[in-house]
Amino acid sequence: MTSTTTAPGSATTAVALAGVTKVYGRGANAVLALDGVSLDVAPGEFVCLVGASGCGKSTLLNLVAGLDRPTGGQIGLAGQASPGLMFQEPALFPWLTVEANVEVPLKLRGLPRAERRERVAELLRTVHLADFGRKRPHELSGGMRQRVALARTLALDTPVLLMDEPFGALDAMTRDILHDELERIWSERKLSVLFVTHNVREAARLADRIILLSSRPGRIIYSTEVDIPRPRRIDSPDVAAIAAEVTERLRTEVGRHGQ
Ligand code: ADP
Ligand code: MG
Repeated sequence: MTSTTTAPGSATTAVALAGVTKVYGRGANAVLALDGVSLDVAPGEFVCLVGASGCGKSTLLNLVAGLDRPTGGQIGLAGQASPGLMFQEPALFPWLTVEANVEVPLKLRGLPRAERRERVAELLRTVHLADFGRKRPHELSGGMRQRVALARTLALDTPVLLMDEPFGALDAMTRDILHDELERIWSERKLSVLFVTHNVREAARLADRIILLSSRPGRIIYSTEVDIPRPRRIDSPDVAAIAAEVTERLRTEVGRHGQ
């Protein structure tokens, strides 16, 4: 992976992108997905990346995750550990219990059995699934499955969390609850989060800072700090006002592309 362990810029950066470009394919079929994206996420900061479908949000997250390589530019991550990842689909092992799913990264890290058990119990308490350890994924609701995925990601003990529309498939009520949970866990554990969503309200509910990507090629066209006190409510007037402002920018951007 092209990433370096020291972030370009400063040692006080959790995630750093400098002039990141991504081209898919070659020649006549080449697609410029990202064009010169520079972005720093501070330690403990919650950054939401928003933009229209196909603008390169997942591309950017995958590059930071090291799942793909940038065509140009640099990506730096604080610390040695790889970041925690969460996607729209929880990707649990269906034949394993909830406990065993959460235990997987702990096993990979070589933790002894007694310690693993303790950690699994603690992680399941954190995501409010203490009574569901013996269940299998198909016995759980979509929201519960995402809680398991979150617990499994937290088991990596990484300071950086990368999330690609993790609540996109959930109903509004469940999503609302998971926003509260994620906000609590993020603040307790002082995580740095890069969260991708096309849902502007969700971004205003969660983010310290919202970054707007333009449609292809993805470039940062707007960024705003969200100073609303926490915990926030998605239906509060403050959140609605920020969401309206970002939606207006997004609308202008999509209109520019005649989509
Ligand atoms: P988003 O997550 O914002 O919806 P993506 O990052 O998935 O956008 O995609 C950005 C652009 O890059 C889209 O035009 C998409 O078709 C293209 N793209 C994504 N992945 C690939 C790939 N593996 N090969 C070719 N083109 C791709
Ligand atoms: Mg995507």
